[in-house]
Amino acid sequence: MLTHLSAKLRERENAGLYRRRLMLEGPQMVHAAIEGKHYLAFCSNDYLGLASHPALIEAACAGAQRYGVGSGASHLICGHSLAHHTLEEALAHFVGLPQALLFSTGYMANMAVITSLVGRGDAIFADRLNHASLNDAALLSKATFKRYPHLDLTRLERYLADSDASGKLVVTDAVFSMDGDIAPVVELLALCEQYGAWLLLDDAHGFGVLGKNGNGVTHAFDKFNVRSPHLVYMATLGKAAGVSGAFVAAQSDIIETLIQFARSYGYTTATPALLAHTLMTSLSLIKQEAWRREKLIKLITQLKTSLHSLRWPLMPSMTPIQPLLVGGNDEAMHLSAALSDRGILVPAIRPPTVPEGKARLRISLSAAHREEDVEQLSETLHDLAKIISS
Ligand SMILES: *Cc1c(COP(=O)(O)O)cnc(C)c1O
Repeated sequence: MLTHLSAKLRERENAGLYRRRLMLEGPQMVHAAIEGKHYLAFCSNDYLGLASHPALIEAACAGAQRYGVGSGASHLICGHSLAHHTLEEALAHFVGLPQALLFSTGYMANMAVITSLVGRGDAIFADRLNHASLNDAALLSKATFKRYPHLDLTRLERYLADSDASGKLVVTDAVFSMDGDIAPVVELLALCEQYGAWLLLDDAHGFGVLGKNGNGVTHAFDKFNVRSPHLVYMATLGKAAGVSGAFVAAQSDIIETLIQFARSYGYTTATPALLAHTLMTSLSLIKQEAWRREKLIKLITQLKTSLHSLRWPLMPSMTPIQPLLVGGNDEAMHLSAALSDRGILVPAIRPPTVPEGKARLRISLSAAHREEDVEQLSETLHDLAKIISS
């Protein structure tokens, strides 16, 4: 048995796909200490720079004083606290939907929504570049699982029109996690309304970043009908919100269905109340400190301009996820390692996370970056391009 495992491990290593974990010795920040060395990091999803914010640290301490550390039980037994409840109401209000439900992770939230809304005899239609958690949940649901080419709404419409499934669910990343592009949510919702389908929007990378107040992708477009009964909105709280967890917001009957039937809701210990307490502070920073979103837009523009003539193209993205398309696995690994030798961390993203031949460096920007940081990254990339071509 072990021989079989080692063979599989060696095979992954030989394919240039072996994963190794970095070990941070301090807080998650754009200047990070890792294994005794100091790095400038472009790899976290802490887009607003809140993960180590003093106000959040203070709120976490106060939350622990008030609620203790462990929540002790699932929400359905006795783990549900005032802190969870207050946060759920604040989140629902913030995104403009009737009710919200907290989860410990986005992975579990996606499991909950998909397996509770559809099952055998139903059908799921999913963008081919969706996050792995959405695909895993689709398989677990036992519904028919059809994937359409990335952003191809013509194909999606054909699938919807041809389907005779009783329940239909369209599932999409709102901001694609490895590409940074944004799904056409207005058109997707219109299709769902026309064909009687649910729309699950996974806004893990849009919440806090998009929309005037950071209230997410559903507030980033005119004409989007947040109150459509077809809409199920999901966002995570460990990325721009800087803490941990996730929530689903939708019509009350959908949320009640999750509370009653979702196994990844009922059969797991509630996330610590101190985190929910901390997230209230996070939420007010997201709303009040618009400068963080404005700063991101500036840095995105700066990066695009400074990498304009580089041999590797940036993929088209208006979000803090700015992937540099390299192509080969080895070349991407090599470039990431060369940056790391020069004190800059940018992860190489390889298959199966992205399609074969589309390995990339996933540059992620944070409001905590300075213009000098982006300049340093861009100059180093230009230097490396020269070294590699000579
Ligand atoms: C990160 C992510 C998730 C998972 O959220 P966690 O809270 O980290 O489990 C789900 N969907 C997308 C698109 C993500 O990027």
